[in-house]
Amino acid sequence: MPFTNQNVLQWLQLYAQEIHENNQYLTQLDSAIGDADHGANMDRGFKAVSAKLASIESADIGTILKTVGSTLVSTVGGASGPLYGTAFLRAGTATSGKHELEAADIITMLEAATEGVRARGKAQVGEKTMLDALYPALDAGKQAVAENAPLPQVTQRMAAGAEEGMKKTIPMLATKGRASYLGERSIGHQDPGATSSWLLLKSLAEVSGR
Ligand code: ADP
Ligand code: MG
Repeated sequence: MPFTNQNVLQWLQLYAQEIHENNQYLTQLDSAIGDADHGANMDRGFKAVSAKLASIESADIGTILKTVGSTLVSTVGGASGPLYGTAFLRAGTATSGKHELEAADIITMLEAATEGVRARGKAQVGEKTMLDALYPALDAGKQAVAENAPLPQVTQRMAAGAEEGMKKTIPMLATKGRASYLGERSIGHQDPGATSSWLLLKSLAEVSGR
């Protein structure tokens, strides 16, 4: 079964809820290596997204994702607003006009989003950012699609890849963003942005497995 525009709305709704529930956890992670606002930033952005979903209920997936992107850009400060904003805007462009997504389209969508984060933030894998969750998710998803895995399994493997990547940020030295100001002291802490990216893929897997 493909992933429909209704599933996309469910995914965003679930993610908004997950972000709200993990607001303190994300903030706690950001207080160790940043300025303790990642939870608040994301919660503010996804509350605004949530409020907009009803008005775009029957829109195509590209329009929905672009609306998410522009909402995040205008409501979230800090590094994560423009980065997640760009991710969703690019994801929307990659799914323009579509009302359902096959597993391969999900990969195309995540690839465009990840590439957007990379282009905007100029970071690479291994610098302790959200990219360290997104790229492993993408690799795991590509591998699953190459094996012709069904969509729920593809998204499950993407979420597992993101989780593994997120955990690998703990021993990393941050060389991009606010955490890089800490130098060696950034080592030993999980990256907040990689954590919110894992939650995004975990929510996707949950909705596609329903
Ligand atoms: P700020 O750092 O401005 O306070 P947030 O706390 O909301 O913004 O977000 C911090 C997260 O943003 C980091 O944990 C990291 O994952 C991500 N991040 C920061 N800079 C970059 C970058 N250049 N590229 C990719 N991700 C980044
Ligand atoms: Mg912060």
